[in-house]
Amino acid sequence: MIGRALLGLAFAVLAAIGSSGSARAADDYTLPFYDPAITLSYGVDRDARSCRQRDWTNKLWYDCSLHYGRVYDGHTGMDYPMALTSPVAASRDGTVIDRYTGYGTQQFGTYGNFVLVSHADGRRTLYYHLAHDGAHVSVGQAVTAGQLIADSGCSGQCYGAHLHWEMRAVVGGRWTFVDPIYLRLFTTNPGRVPFLASYRRESNAGTEVIPQYATVTHWVEFLNTGGRAWQRAVSRGRTYLATWSPAGHASTFAAADWPSTWVATTVDQASVPPNSVGRFTFGLRASAAPGSYVERFDLLANGLHWFDWSRLGSFYIPIYVISHQVE
Ligand SMILES: [Zn+2]
Repeated sequence: MIGRALLGLAFAVLAAIGSSGSARAADDYTLPFYDPAITLSYGVDRDARSCRQRDWTNKLWYDCSLHYGRVYDGHTGMDYPMALTSPVAASRDGTVIDRYTGYGTQQFGTYGNFVLVSHADGRRTLYYHLAHDGAHVSVGQAVTAGQLIADSGCSGQCYGAHLHWEMRAVVGGRWTFVDPIYLRLFTTNPGRVPFLASYRRESNAGTEVIPQYATVTHWVEFLNTGGRAWQRAVSRGRTYLATWSPAGHASTFAAADWPSTWVATTVDQASVPPNSVGRFTFGLRASAAPGSYVERFDLLANGLHWFDWSRLGSFYIPIYVISHQVE
């Protein structure tokens, strides 16, 4: 028999965060607010060239346009729209090393009112456009992850109420902004990376034998080992199976229940919390000529709501298509 499901996720995560340390150690930053309805409007532009914008999926946009939900040119942080004077939380334990709170709540300048926090891993986080008198911590004060540190506003260079949250690190000997989404440094569950999965089992542990023009039902189960719930809703961390290697490819085994010819299915459950098993049920239709095939699938997570994107692992299904005139 051919070997079964393969997962490369551990390697992918380690590659994403660098050669030292573990995924767990790197995943220490919570979102800088409490309201789960708050979405990110723009992320960090990781390409310094003018009109070349690289988003957290590593996609490079060759234009000068705004890419809502992803990036805009030259942006150094992440923008979270929120009403004026909404609570802002520290995203990790640390020490306040700078702040300003004397501007008005809505007034031009640059950063406006801000709080800058230094963390034990050598990174800093910056919270700006805060409200007048919106910084509730003082320089030298220790803060903990999730602690209320400020009220949001629209001070500085701000054209609509939002929090600009920025992560900085020393790169090449100098402080610069980095992208916490791309580095997979966010979670809603401290100490765990946002999306991880571990293969468990599937309906047919051998090979699917499918009469030509017939459809069989196949399911596969993965354990959610990450810090975020899997969802069916597109904007909230949708977790789905696709034939994707890496560009989407239309499968000859796409059945009528597939959302497209390359997206096989989303997770069956409305929500799969951390440490729970998610099942993915989908059809396989043998419209190909009789013969031996292997169809490969990837488990993907893509949530604009939490502004994350991950490839969690892959597996494949050996398929034998036999003549529909079964003997
Ligand atoms: Zn911003």
